[in-house]
Amino acid sequence: MNDTIKQDTRHIWHPFTQHGTENVPPVIARAKGASLFDAQDNEILDLISSWWTCTHGHAHPAINAALAKQADTMEHVMFAGFTHPAAAALAEKIVDALPGDLTKVFFSDNGSTAVEVALKLAYQYWRNKGEDGRTLFLAFDGAYHGDTVGAMSVGKSCGFYTPYEDLLFRVDTIPFVDTWDGDVDIDARENAALAVIEKTLTANKDKIAALIVEPIMQGAIGIRLCRPSYMKAVSDMARAHGVLVIYDEVAVGFGRLGTLFACEQIGFTPDLVCLSKGLTAGYMPMSLTVATQGVFDAFLDKGFGKAFAHGHSFTANPLACAVALKSLELFSEENTLAKIAHIETRHRAFADTLTAHPCAEKIRVRGSVLAFTLRDANGYKSAAGEYLRGWFLSHGLNIRPLGGTVYLMPPYCITDAELTRAYDGIVEGLGALADRQAAA
Ligand SMILES: *Cc1c(COP(=O)(O)O)cnc(C)c1O
Repeated sequence: MNDTIKQDTRHIWHPFTQHGTENVPPVIARAKGASLFDAQDNEILDLISSWWTCTHGHAHPAINAALAKQADTMEHVMFAGFTHPAAAALAEKIVDALPGDLTKVFFSDNGSTAVEVALKLAYQYWRNKGEDGRTLFLAFDGAYHGDTVGAMSVGKSCGFYTPYEDLLFRVDTIPFVDTWDGDVDIDARENAALAVIEKTLTANKDKIAALIVEPIMQGAIGIRLCRPSYMKAVSDMARAHGVLVIYDEVAVGFGRLGTLFACEQIGFTPDLVCLSKGLTAGYMPMSLTVATQGVFDAFLDKGFGKAFAHGHSFTANPLACAVALKSLELFSEENTLAKIAHIETRHRAFADTLTAHPCAEKIRVRGSVLAFTLRDANGYKSAAGEYLRGWFLSHGLNIRPLGGTVYLMPPYCITDAELTRAYDGIVEGLGALADRQAAA
């Protein structure tokens, strides 16, 4: 494994990494269930599901079998002018699981491209309808929708994109109202925000193509949760103004927040929905942008001009489709939503003990997600997050704070004993942080 480190150090450029300061990363040799194992076979609990992708657990036997079977049958075929059973069956299953008339599935390769596709579809939808004035996109402040140029544009308020600012197209932002346990003035804050949003919608009458949202949970900015009723109110308002509504369920889809899709908790059927991450149970990159029949119909014509001229080499890759199909079947075969409900019950109990902790505030729980904000001891917040990341890793826990937010988002197969290890680890880690800050 020393070779791996040597090769990596010489040749690899890692994502979201400052190689000027970053230490040599652990080499992960294998993974099983909720755990990763390093080269010396030390166990690291994967408490953020390898960037929120792993759902049923690492190296799941049923998914492995589905993948092997598909590989023996057909690894890939181009998807323009051809189709194949795995893609067709997956599309039908996804449409059945989604609410309302979300009936048309467009395949691409990752969360960012699913967002690009949704933005382009929304933009061209209005052109195809002859409403060329609708060119503006609305997004929430603090939104993250991926790292390609369109996705960065709608996510520019998250603050990650300073070097590219001049490259991004215009997007207006509206307020996201986050909430937490014991939040007392949420009604007043939501009402004030809704008034601002109504004003933005009115001021840009007939100019807005679409509103894009991370439904209920804003992930990358620091696991901010809003009330489903707030999402519903904003979505209804946008629709009343004729604006298309895009739900980016890349992070929250496939059970993360306790239901298969977050839109179910909101009670709203968007015009376009983006799915990725959990789609393939964390196995491989693939994404879907699902459109309503009404959106699809606006692209129908006798000539090519109104068609959606977009596609990727690996569109609807059969291996990824077979994995995604098996993953959806597992949700019923393994009663996965009940497992998530159980994780939520455990999170809730731990959240109640955290309330009394001097280092934690703004505690929030929904489905498989538990998050809290580090109380800002002497302006230490993000340094504290960095310190905790290292502490957790050296204690066998993959927990990576986002700035001052510590959170858990485990694979759904996590056991009670493993959850207890995670909770105990957080309390111990916070204790180490408090000691360190007291000594500073
Ligand atoms: C991760 C994420 C994306 C981007 O997905 P990638 O697969 O990393 O490109 C988009 N939207 C949301 C909400 C995400 O969490």
